[in-house]
Amino acid sequence: MTTIATTNPATGRVEKTFDALAGEEIDRRVGRAAAAFASYRTTGFAERAAWMNAAADILDGEADQIGAMLTAEMGKTLTAAKAEARKCAKACRYYAEHAEGFLADRPADAEAVGASAAYIRYQPLGPVLAVMPWNFPLWQVIRFAAPGLMAGNVGLLKHSSNVPQTALFLEDLFRRAGFPEGAFQTLLIGSAQVERVLRDPRVKAATLTGSEPAGRSVASIAGDEIKPTVLELGGSDPFVVMPSADLAAAAEAAATSRCLNNGQSCISAKRFIVDIGAAEEFERRFVDAMRGRRVGDPMDEATDVGPLASEQGRADVEELVADAVGKGATVLCGGERPDGPGWFYPPTVVSGVTPQMRMYHEEVFGPVASLFRVRGVSEAVEVANATGFGLGSNAWTRDTDERERFVRELDAGQVFVNGITTSYPELPFGGVKRSGYGRELSEQGVHAFCNAKTIWVG
Ligand code: NDP
Repeated sequence: MTTIATTNPATGRVEKTFDALAGEEIDRRVGRAAAAFASYRTTGFAERAAWMNAAADILDGEADQIGAMLTAEMGKTLTAAKAEARKCAKACRYYAEHAEGFLADRPADAEAVGASAAYIRYQPLGPVLAVMPWNFPLWQVIRFAAPGLMAGNVGLLKHSSNVPQTALFLEDLFRRAGFPEGAFQTLLIGSAQVERVLRDPRVKAATLTGSEPAGRSVASIAGDEIKPTVLELGGSDPFVVMPSADLAAAAEAAATSRCLNNGQSCISAKRFIVDIGAAEEFERRFVDAMRGRRVGDPMDEATDVGPLASEQGRADVEELVADAVGKGATVLCGGERPDGPGWFYPPTVVSGVTPQMRMYHEEVFGPVASLFRVRGVSEAVEVANATGFGLGSNAWTRDTDERERFVRELDAGQVFVNGITTSYPELPFGGVKRSGYGRELSEQGVHAFCNAKTIWVG
């Protein structure tokens, strides 16, 4: 049975445990969601926007306390945790402002279809189950909840079992902001209870961010029930560097991206693919930048990299590095866990990674970079596309022809040129291949859980 608890990753101490909901209580809450939907869907955009803006005010106003809670539960630095709360506030405001426009009736060519009027009406689906991960425990939820609630859906959150306080805070956040009872509920349940919720006919759709096995399980149950899903799974994003790039900026950005969220972000650059003409200088600068990141207490403002979120997470990272080293890879910096409590792991750069090594194919969820040397754009693209993932990608070049080739040829949901892959409320977010399907954020994120109803009037 899953333990639902806050265990501080910086100390390894269990700080608070929670009981999982019993089966009847889960059913009761699903019933409450269905009842809430019946009336919530009739509320107007102005009303929803007022509640969503109130949620944004709470997130901004309480960013310090929220940040401390996130840091205690999953170990990201306090600075990053506070920034996450503010980013969530921004996304709430964005959807409060834009949802009505995104969801307005969309006229079609009535004459062409022999109608006096033809248009698309966007309507909510009902209760949506969100299965969410611990790495951005607020942001991953808000990027579903803000567009979802503005569209008139109601939310049921099954959060990771290691972030229960954040999970409960999110229900409280929307209630305090004024959303009606039942519009957004947290279910403190283990992953074994997800099937029960997903098969409940009152639940109409699901969204999951997390690992491939979790995605496969939720998508297959939802498929069996013919319910739509959006999946945002892992990534092993390439970061391609060509000789025309600003190598100093590229190396600094590379270290920032790889160490983002203590190395546990799906859109962190993980594989650094460098043209031979830039390799020596880029590698030197990159290794220096990685070595220069300060590892330590996540509550300390001077810390760049805190602990990994779980003991298992660190063991997984160590296993991948040991596998690569055992098969001939070289560790250029890091690679050894520090002594003492907490699940710390240093920024690490590994060169000589080959397809025989697990790291070549698997996502490394910690601050570990693999380095590759290539000759020209074609080989860079080939290596970049040589994994099952296709979430984000980064290309560094000042050559417009090269840029166009990366834009066209990288198999990914997003290509960031001369910058770090980041999520913005204004831009669609999602992947291809085994990174999942569907899009979150932007207009597409609102439409993901709507019935695009065709209206034809004779
Ligand atoms: P999981 O995918 O196991 O957890 C994510 C969410 O899915 C949690 O709420 C979890 O609940 C739930 N879950 C897990 N298994 C199932 C299942 N079979 N059916 C329904 N829900 C399920 O991620 P982990 O935390 O175990 O991390 C493992 C790896 O996943 C990482 O190393 C990383 O590679 C990847 N990952 C990617 C993320 C991303 O942002 N794309 C985020 C997190 C992880 P519970 O906590 O109760 O198990």
